[in-house]
Amino acid sequence: MPHITGHTELVGLMAYPIRHSGSPATHNLAYDHNGDDVVQIAFEVDEKALPAAVESIRALRMLGSNISMPNKQAVLPYLDELDASAEMAQAVNTVVNLRGEDGTVTGRLRGYNTDGMGYWKALAEEGISAQGKHLVLIGCGGAASAIAASGAAEGLASVDFFNIDDAFFMAGKALAARMEGATSCRAAVHALGDRELLREKLLEADILCDATGAGMHPLEDLCNIPDASYLHEGLVVTDTVYVPSETPLLRLAREAGLSRVYNGTGMMLYQALTAIKLYTGKETDAAYMREKLSL
Ligand code: NAD
Repeated sequence: MPHITGHTELVGLMAYPIRHSGSPATHNLAYDHNGDDVVQIAFEVDEKALPAAVESIRALRMLGSNISMPNKQAVLPYLDELDASAEMAQAVNTVVNLRGEDGTVTGRLRGYNTDGMGYWKALAEEGISAQGKHLVLIGCGGAASAIAASGAAEGLASVDFFNIDDAFFMAGKALAARMEGATSCRAAVHALGDRELLREKLLEADILCDATGAGMHPLEDLCNIPDASYLHEGLVVTDTVYVPSETPLLRLAREAGLSRVYNGTGMMLYQALTAIKLYTGKETDAAYMREKLSL
């Protein structure tokens, strides 16, 4: 339990609903372990309350706030500046109250998206980088956008998105155009129903990521890859889902004998550790966090 004093500094978490979140437990464990007099508190903030809640970061001289659904896009107009990959993704999950030369907060708010940064940091821990790689990404939603934008900023050569025919498909097209405008990464969006193209792209891909929630309630039985003939031995197979720890896709890859198969636990941990570093400037010991949080 953190010891709260008159000097304790505040990090928020603004979302609705939010009471189920594991974020405060993660952040407060890290601040405690790092010896920082900082606490994170979750606030129920919907889109109506968002403008005043963001203004409170300035008024209360908070270090910043994590932002989750439904506020990741809605927060953009209230910020002063955006990190390049948050700009590309058009989504923010971390607002930092920038510090001045004397180290105190200035009230100038910069938005980041550490979901994507966290995904690539988790892969970096396994010795896998984005540099020059071809990514097949199933989904064009919030998680997929963050992963693609951050990967493009880190040097991905190409991304092929595959999406069902819903509103995210057109959003994916706009994202692909922003990625191609801002980086040298080639990006295209295809119909998930085009199995032949999916197979063709997968057979030449380095990394597959499913960012649709397939395998998690209410899509627990869904696997977007029809069978193991779509996978090849060198493919890195990843899923943003971490509950359950093994989705049907990850099981398919493991049973096909692939050795580099990862769920979303590392992404979840590293999105938090990346945000913590942005607030306090400190690296957190990931092994300690994994042990204490049983990840
Ligand atoms: P979102 O609603 O923004 O996007 C959902 C995507 O899935 C869209 O592209 C949509 O078209 C697609 N989709 C929906 N139903 C589908 C179906 N039946 N078949 C195929 N595709 C379908 O959601 P999001 O915020 O991007 O979250 C996606 C998943 O990623 C969730 O499971 C979420 O828990 C997970 N996530 C994990 C982390 C992490 O840290 N590990 C972070 C963010 C999100």
